[in-house]
Amino acid sequence: MLLTFEPVLARIAEEIEGLTDRGLPADYIPALAGADPARFGMAVAELDGTVYGVGEWRQPFSTQSVTKVFSLALALARKGDALWDHVGREPSGNPFNSLVQLEYENGIPRNPFINAGALVVTDQLHRITGDASGVTLDFLRAESGNRDLVIDREVAESETAHGDRNAALAYFMASCDNIANPVPTLLREYFRQCAIRASCADLALATAFLARHGLRADGSRLLTSSQAKQINAVMLTCGAYDAAGDFAHRVGLPGKSGVGGGIIAVVPGRCTLCVWGPGLDARGNSVAGVTALDRFTTLTGLSVF
Ligand code: GLN
Repeated sequence: MLLTFEPVLARIAEEIEGLTDRGLPADYIPALAGADPARFGMAVAELDGTVYGVGEWRQPFSTQSVTKVFSLALALARKGDALWDHVGREPSGNPFNSLVQLEYENGIPRNPFINAGALVVTDQLHRITGDASGVTLDFLRAESGNRDLVIDREVAESETAHGDRNAALAYFMASCDNIANPVPTLLREYFRQCAIRASCADLALATAFLARHGLRADGSRLLTSSQAKQINAVMLTCGAYDAAGDFAHRVGLPGKSGVGGGIIAVVPGRCTLCVWGPGLDARGNSVAGVTALDRFTTLTGLSVF
């Protein structure tokens, strides 16, 4: 079916206007706490790089956990299946920053998208490249075609100053020999990676390698199609933390959320999406973002089911 995305996006934006309860911005990172929940943007990228958008789709925001997808792809490309010795691929059913499962699972986090798992992935990427946040930023710049993407120092510093929980996760895993770098080095890299600013347009384009079964924007291969399938599968089952089941139920797509209010999603073989709305629900997912993706797949029929 030939689909024009503009009318669909316009309709979704209109519906989101009427959304009264949009949740609250993340307040545990002070630099994010002031964001206005009324803001909204959404972009769809086709596989050839054409992007459609509505609302503030070109406004950069703090990507936060959305970057966990890119660091995972970059680490998997370099380390292959051995990466799965360090991190699992089961939904955690727990909040994104939870400590509880680590002790009885010997410091092997449940999946790469909870904070513990992302710390392990960033650790491996940094061990291999010596510049985990830099290679992640470079990848996002190359895939989005936007050389102006930057790491927001204020957000990185704000998170470092309030990073005790992530430090606890990292030190515990280090005690289990599942962290290779000194913990302060790892935390710096992790917080810098989370603090990359990008827009819906940038992120929809940068995610397109997952809809292209592993091929980058320049046609070169980052991942095998099997590895791209693995990442899409983990996004579907674990991308929205302890709300991953509800996200799959409502949206029906592999997705990944971040506490900056962004969510990316993949329609394999067809297109990629990014939505942004800084108001979060109790589990840390954008209220407007999940609603908009739910409406998109309902209106277009474009889901993996
Ligand atoms: N930087 C955030 C943290 O580590 C990312 C969390 C998120 O987006 N869910 O707490």
